[in-house]
Amino acid sequence: SDRVLSLIQPTADSLHLGNYLGALRQWVPLQDSYDAFYGVADLHALTVEPDPVVLKERTLRAAAQLIAAGIDPSRSTVFVQSHVVEHTQLSWVLSCMTGFGQASRMTQFKDKSAKAGSDSTNVGLFSYPILMAADILLYQAAQVPVGEDQRQHLELTRDLAGRFNARYGRTFVVPEPHILKSVGKIQDLQEPTAKMSKSAASPNGLIDLLDDPKINVKKIKSAVTDSGREISFDEDAKPGVSNLLTILAALTDEPMDTLVAGFEGKGYGDLKGAVADAVTAFAAPYRERTLQLLDERTELEKILAEGAAHAREVAHSTITDVYAKVGLLPA
Ligand code: ATP
Ligand code: MG
Repeated sequence: SDRVLSLIQPTADSLHLGNYLGALRQWVPLQDSYDAFYGVADLHALTVEPDPVVLKERTLRAAAQLIAAGIDPSRSTVFVQSHVVEHTQLSWVLSCMTGFGQASRMTQFKDKSAKAGSDSTNVGLFSYPILMAADILLYQAAQVPVGEDQRQHLELTRDLAGRFNARYGRTFVVPEPHILKSVGKIQDLQEPTAKMSKSAASPNGLIDLLDDPKINVKKIKSAVTDSGREISFDEDAKPGVSNLLTILAALTDEPMDTLVAGFEGKGYGDLKGAVADAVTAFAAPYRERTLQLLDERTELEKILAEGAAHAREVAHSTITDVYAKVGLLPA
């Protein structure tokens, strides 16, 4: 069957609500109809120059959270990016086919490097989308479930796949982005016109799923809302309220119209209360499962070793084909 692939970076101790609603949640049902590859992008995380001990711990925590969210390692391949050397091998080949101009137009690089300043921006951050293209193309993924912020990187990946296929003959599946309009961009609770992000300016805008549920309830109750009193879904006029409604609709599986109708005559406080309850109902058992998986560390490491072994088989076959096609002398 067709393949699906998505990775998540171990750049924080906990995944946040945006990671879950925008990406991870979609990964779960895709396991039913696809040959799924899901993993932890530890090589990508090196772009923020993490402390080595912290990175290692976060990699395991991220893997545990994938499983806690419903990824089933007996059906899906769960692995760590650096365990499969072919990612960096393919990344180099693709680098040599990417125009400097095209890479320079990536808005995530522009945003992140502007924040960091040019002295603390490394070349890895610049070539990040090319490594991401390698992650996807290596497994011949047909679908890539990600958040809206990855759309441009997916477009680059599709370009590179097409370019390689045109130059060397059919080699790569050209992947489709699997991005949901409703939840593709969960916003920061304090700054509802910016995406919720691990590297957010104010930690109060971010719902860390592994935080004490009480802390998250407090953050939701102090979320920025909008002028007026009416609860309606209007992202331009009411970005704060709309973001809360988006979160609630997703977590309760309620259609937006029904949800909004149910709040007629009620106030922002009621909405926040409902969001807090829904987030807690999801996050409390998620946190329990994650902590339990981290307690059984050897079991988790075994899952990752098996995942890497399977991922390597697929990756090796792709890289062998690619190396031969571009004219590298077989070893
Ligand atoms: P960083 O700030 O370190 O880039 P991040 O929060 O963007 O962290 P990633 O690991 O880069 O997290 O992204 C993991 C997945 O979560 C990606 O598919 C990404 O598109 C998605 N995602 C990230 N933030 C959001 C958000 N606010 N809303 C919806 N999806 C999101
Ligand atoms: Mg990101």
